[in-house]
Amino acid sequence: MVSYEEIFERNKQWVAKMTRNDADYFEKLAKDQNPDYLYIGCSDSRVPANEIMGLEPGELFVHRNVANLVNNTDLNVMACINYAVRYLHVKHIIVCGHYNCGGVKAAMTPVDLGILNPWLRTIRDVYRLHQDELNKITDESKRYNRLVELNVQEQCINVIKIASVQKAYIEKKYPIVHGWVFDMHTGILQDLHIDFEKILKDIQQIYDLTGK
Ligand SMILES: [Zn+2]
Repeated sequence: MVSYEEIFERNKQWVAKMTRNDADYFEKLAKDQNPDYLYIGCSDSRVPANEIMGLEPGELFVHRNVANLVNNTDLNVMACINYAVRYLHVKHIIVCGHYNCGGVKAAMTPVDLGILNPWLRTIRDVYRLHQDELNKITDESKRYNRLVELNVQEQCINVIKIASVQKAYIEKKYPIVHGWVFDMHTGILQDLHIDFEKILKDIQQIYDLTGK
């Protein structure tokens, strides 16, 4: 384990590294942020958002929670998305899940997990929506992995249901919503190629909040 005191030593080393070639690095960083990307991912410590995307401080607006969920009554994620769309004008919103997700596994375990029950129920709902496909997959780890992908897809749909996202897209043609999965066995990010335009068109039959 890295000691508590060691963290502050490492911080000083990091500051020295960042200012080695640019003495004003932090002055510039402090001025403003203008990220093009909003990343919604899992809290899992093995999936560090900036690092896996190769992005520097200031380039990525981040929201993380257990199992990368976009629940429509979660003020935290809703505030984050609204701020990113309305004030930061992000061009892309990414929902990124990962294989071996403990949250997804826990959701499918038949035990009482206390306060996690209502949170993880969203994943059981994803399973129910796709149970015909999932029940056909006999290999358990493959079934979990597919559930991880379908969970990402459903959370992308939840992002597209949001009024600020729909309105911004009609006016500016962005943000585009993407679904990704990170494979920690290889370090590779996989684009699920969510058909954003089609999902938007389909769900606006019911969830149209644009007032147009
Ligand atoms: Zn996870």
